Amino acid sequence: MVLQGDNMAPTLTTQITRKMDQTIQPPLLMNAMVLEQSCSRLLHQRIPVPIPSPYQVLIKVAACAICRTDLHIIDGDLKQPKLPLVPGHQIVGEVISRGTLVTDIAVGQLVGVSWLGYTCGDCGYCRKGLENLCDHAQFTGYHLDGGYAEYAVADHRYCFPLPMEHGGSFGAPLLCAGLTGYRSYTMLPTEAKNIGIYGFGGAGHILIQVAINHGKSVCAFTRPGDHSAQEFARRYGAAWAGDSTAPAPFLLDAAIIFAPVGELVVKALQDTVKGGTIICGGIHMSDIPSLPYQLLWGERSIKSVANLTRKDGQALLALARELSFQTQTHPYPLHQANEALDHLRNGDINGVAVLIN
Ligand SMILES: [Zn+2]
Ligand SMILES: [Zn+2]
Repeated sequence: MVLQGDNMAPTLTTQITRKMDQTIQPPLLMNAMVLEQSCSRLLHQRIPVPIPSPYQVLIKVAACAICRTDLHIIDGDLKQPKLPLVPGHQIVGEVISRGTLVTDIAVGQLVGVSWLGYTCGDCGYCRKGLENLCDHAQFTGYHLDGGYAEYAVADHRYCFPLPMEHGGSFGAPLLCAGLTGYRSYTMLPTEAKNIGIYGFGGAGHILIQVAINHGKSVCAFTRPGDHSAQEFARRYGAAWAGDSTAPAPFLLDAAIIFAPVGELVVKALQDTVKGGTIICGGIHMSDIPSLPYQLLWGERSIKSVANLTRKDGQALLALARELSFQTQTHPYPLHQANEALDHLRNGDINGVAVLIN
């Protein structure tokens, strides 16, 4: 498994030193970027280092990738976040201490923490293996404090042990950009050959590597005129890349929409063959305009993907060990989280912004 951050400054690479089974005493206070209220800038604060509960581990955060969902939480599109909140749900770091009931993760282990922070295990969805739909789920960086900080706690049952080469910024984008993209991809019919990706960024550039490995052909649709993103998609192997307003160069078997733009559902239906599948891969999307039934007719289907299961995470991380992924990361120091969020909001980032400690 090789992960490369194309433009990762070596001086910012976080070195993780192993101290297996040796609990490290954390400081009392840490730096964190905190959301005090929705629709406001994050505040750089010194707050207490969290103390792990019996089921939690304390993680020294090495890197936390920024996801578009963070923007939706900060901008108020997703309602009722925990406040004040430390956002961030693509955390990579070293376990430095653990709760009294944690036995399966050693101190010194590198772990990843994703969006899925807790599920009840008891509701109808959990019992059917659909923990991503759990009625009582709690999500990292939304209901639970996340990784825009020097330290974070997480329930050990929702941590993914990572190999050391996933340290620093390299593995962080896998934990949501990778997982969301992968769950969306697994919703496609296996026989789908020509796939459209609408909104080619963090998720798209990881997913395309899986798709190409499976012999698929990918067309990438970007914001109109975003030649930089189109070039980025071609560099990652897109057979075609162009404006989202342009017709697909040929009819697609399936489409995955990552951009939070409802109009793209209509566009994707126009671009797909009869029997085609449209997957909406984002947690938030603007309203889908009304559309002529003729576009849906022909047994086309539209489906959303919600959250992820731990099985998705295990499958993607196992795949990551098989394939030689590359991730394009843009490192920012923790205190520049607002600038990184602005760059993502404005479409200035090809790849994934990652906060580095
Ligand atoms: Zn449940
Ligand atoms: Zn995410």
